[in-house]
Amino acid sequence: MALNIVLMGPPGAGKGTQAKKIIQAYAIPHISTGDMFRLAIKEGTKLGLVAKSYIDKGDLVPDDVTIGLVKERLAMDDCKKGYLLDGFPRTIPQAEALEVLSKEIGREVSLVIDIEVEKKELIRRIAGRRVCKNCGAPYHVDTAKPKVEGVCDICGGPLYQRLDDNEAALEVRLTHYEEDTKPLLDFYKKTGKLVVLDGGEGSDRLFEKITSILGEVSDDNH
Ligand code: AMP
Repeated sequence: MALNIVLMGPPGAGKGTQAKKIIQAYAIPHISTGDMFRLAIKEGTKLGLVAKSYIDKGDLVPDDVTIGLVKERLAMDDCKKGYLLDGFPRTIPQAEALEVLSKEIGREVSLVIDIEVEKKELIRRIAGRRVCKNCGAPYHVDTAKPKVEGVCDICGGPLYQRLDDNEAALEVRLTHYEEDTKPLLDFYKKTGKLVVLDGGEGSDRLFEKITSILGEVSDDNH
């Protein structure tokens, strides 16, 4: 059975890092709404213009825009064997829409992984975060430095600080997480699909836990 996974957690929890490991190990597509919006902004599309006005302030892009984007993406052929949703859903209406649209196409969510990290640590991680402009690989100015300053180890691309990784936008993003996204944990707890993990441990240890859970899920479904 397909691994149809939702990855949740506040900004800075390590979703992007774990997502990259998961998609590599399980060969499923990575559907990150944040990445899709950033690409649209880079390409200067209409969607990008709309998204930018929200993202730069730390606000959420409206549900109808975001849901439409995911609906199209999940229906694509490469999601047949599974998918990893990262950063979606983030609101109750998005989660409800996902229930409906994933059922319609026979690609229902099989597991929701929530990564929890305390606020002080989130702020430390986000303030020092740098990202590769080309491949999106994450770095940190103190704890995950590239071999050559400002240059991605993987693809040689330039590293930059996301515009929404500043203090003011981060405060807004954390508030949206508390108010809009956290209620989803109850929503998913009721479905029995939710697993909560401590993201305060190292990323390798966290990935070990995730692989053991994914092993159980795929075994259960055989
Ligand atoms: P991320 O890369 O997941 O941290 O997302 C960056 C930004 O994109 C968020 O702070 C939001 O402004 C926007 N965004 C990403 N995913 C969603 C979503 N599911 N709903 C609304 N806005 C989103």
